[in-house]
Amino acid sequence: GSANLKNKTLVVTTILSNPYCMRKESAIPLSGNDQFEGYAVDLIHEISKSLGFNYKIQLVPDGSYGSLNKLTGEWNGMIRELLEQRADLAIADLTITFEREQAVDFTTPFMNLGVSILYRKGTPIESAEDLAKQTRIKYGALKGGSTAAFFRDSKISTYQRMWSFMESARPSVFTASNGEGVERVAKGKGSYAFLMESTSIEYVTERNCELTQVGGMLDTKSYGIATPPNSPYRTAINSVILKLQEEGKLHILKTKWWKEKRGGGKCR
Ligand code: ASP
Repeated sequence: GSANLKNKTLVVTTILSNPYCMRKESAIPLSGNDQFEGYAVDLIHEISKSLGFNYKIQLVPDGSYGSLNKLTGEWNGMIRELLEQRADLAIADLTITFEREQAVDFTTPFMNLGVSILYRKGTPIESAEDLAKQTRIKYGALKGGSTAAFFRDSKISTYQRMWSFMESARPSVFTASNGEGVERVAKGKGSYAFLMESTSIEYVTERNCELTQVGGMLDTKSYGIATPPNSPYRTAINSVILKLQEEGKLHILKTKWWKEKRGGGKCR
């Protein structure tokens, strides 16, 4: 059943990722929740106001979203923080996947997206197939996230081929963060393309006018807030997410952080 959250203090695990959770720029040192801003930070604030709880934002210590080590059966990243009861909620650009849903619970989605390609403007590369049939341009993805897992687990031959190419590439084409991937594309003079989620690509191409999304989305999925299994808070949070969605509040937040804040709308 759903629990009374009033005056409880929940620990929220998250990850630095534009524009979901970013360090606030400030001349004076900031502490606690005040250090951070972004879409996910606003979202947790809205949910907490509605349900009357307090919260403490904690960056995930290993900087990972969450992947299962199939040999040890252990999770890392935000998923592990939930399983080890160091956090009550994971609020980030955390993709709802079948594998993660076996270990933790997800709320109703708050944003939809798909894997796509970030690359430079004005090249003959127009799709994932174009990338797959050549070897001169390297391409990669965030290490240990759902994007890499999409290629690893795909039954589609083009994507299987792309996964083999990525796995065998030296130096590694995998990155520790989306930011590192974006930088490799931006500095790579066309030598590197980055497989990234469409929402993050949209954020980057609003600000770096040399970069573009190549082709459409390779899949469709959603972000959700994750909780430990059978969390008493999930039902209450589901209701708030639906309410925020129906009121248009989620749309307003998206526009704020994608188009308005921190240099948005530059490339039109
Ligand atoms: N949002 C993804 C995740 O949850 C990150 C990625 O792999 O693109 O793992």
